[in-house]
Amino acid sequence: MTDALDVRRRRVLGESYRLFYRDPVHLVRGEGVWLYDASGRRYLDAYNNVPSVGHGNPRVAAAMAEQARRLNAHTRYLSDEIVDYGERLLGLFDDSLDRAVFACTGSEANDLAYRMAREFTGAAGAIVTANAYHGVTGEIAALSPSLTSELAPTARAVPAPDPRLGAQAGPRFAAGVRAAVDDLARHGLRPAMLIVDTVMSSDGIIPDPVGMLADAVRVVRDAGGLYVADEVQAGFGRLGDGLWGFDRHGLVPDVVTLGKPMGNGYPLAGVVTRSEITSAFGGRYRYFNTFGGSSVAAAVGSAVLSEIADRDLVASCREVGARLRDGLEELAARHDLIGDVRGAGLFVGVDVEAGGGPSGAAAQAVVDGLRDAGVLVSATGPASATLKIRPPLVFGTEHADLLVETLDTVLAGMTERTAD
Ligand code: PMP
Repeated sequence: MTDALDVRRRRVLGESYRLFYRDPVHLVRGEGVWLYDASGRRYLDAYNNVPSVGHGNPRVAAAMAEQARRLNAHTRYLSDEIVDYGERLLGLFDDSLDRAVFACTGSEANDLAYRMAREFTGAAGAIVTANAYHGVTGEIAALSPSLTSELAPTARAVPAPDPRLGAQAGPRFAAGVRAAVDDLARHGLRPAMLIVDTVMSSDGIIPDPVGMLADAVRVVRDAGGLYVADEVQAGFGRLGDGLWGFDRHGLVPDVVTLGKPMGNGYPLAGVVTRSEITSAFGGRYRYFNTFGGSSVAAAVGSAVLSEIADRDLVASCREVGARLRDGLEELAARHDLIGDVRGAGLFVGVDVEAGGGPSGAAAQAVVDGLRDAGVLVSATGPASATLKIRPPLVFGTEHADLLVETLDTVLAGMTERTAD
């Protein structure tokens, strides 16, 4: 008899691969906001931001297949697809951001952004938030405190803005960035960049207060560093307020990094920045990424942009997100396990509390309870005590309502069990 799939998986992939859920889900198919397991059971996907225009999106799949049949070339030949897509993409940013460079993953995009920032500024320091995640290349993993406590000697981690401080959150965050600049100086270093995941997903999902990043960006720019907006999670409309998370804070970054939803699951990522920055880098280094920005990647990226525009997904995300948060607030008023509810558009964090404080164990029990009830979410934040709700953008009001109803039932069951 063949070993069970989880046993074979562990044997092939090893220890660094983790599975979600106490009872892992064996997926075989996806459609829109639904995922189907091997027994035919369907799950509401309230977690995956990569398939932002829906699992199995027919327009994206058709663009992928048609382009793959016609031509899939890399970027060292003249071809229309990459130029057409690049022009279209740049048209979605402030005029000052006039260059696009393509990669396959968000990690590569951040790695490249850091190299560009160092080349442009002549400095080496990188300032990140306390529980940031920016990717898996050696250099970027060493700038990701959520992965390692052994950061690069050039890195400084600062406390993420505390939303409970209201108008003081921004100035307090900026004070942390100033302290990091001063500490770099004490070690003979200057900042090349402040890199911030615009929605601070791994710091616990912090979209507000609006404007909270501006003071910190001023501090790093005054010290000669660049502001790199990591839009790998927040970008492409998810926050329901324009396409980019930094728009929400009234900022124009020096460098923007993109990934995840950019190709709806096809590996497509990129850096968007000013020509003076790419010139400083390109004057010294050749950049070639075999698969990044291939003809198929460009065709897929274009189809994703068309879906977001034609289906008015940013507005839908804003409306459905508002209804979802209203429903969750209402649950927070009735269930002691639920604390703060935060979010923008379809990026929502729900704090889970037990015994008077954040509880990673209770959050995990909620995540597993929802999974058993057919709804997929996960947990994030320093204590993993914040439910991370981040569904495909095609999530409708009926899906938001189903999520809230199911969570209500799961929480009621947990309270009953505790009362037993
Ligand atoms: N930045 C952020 C904010 C991310 O969430 C991620 C992925 N979770 C990355 C970068 C890295 O992207 P990738 O996994 O495509 O390398």
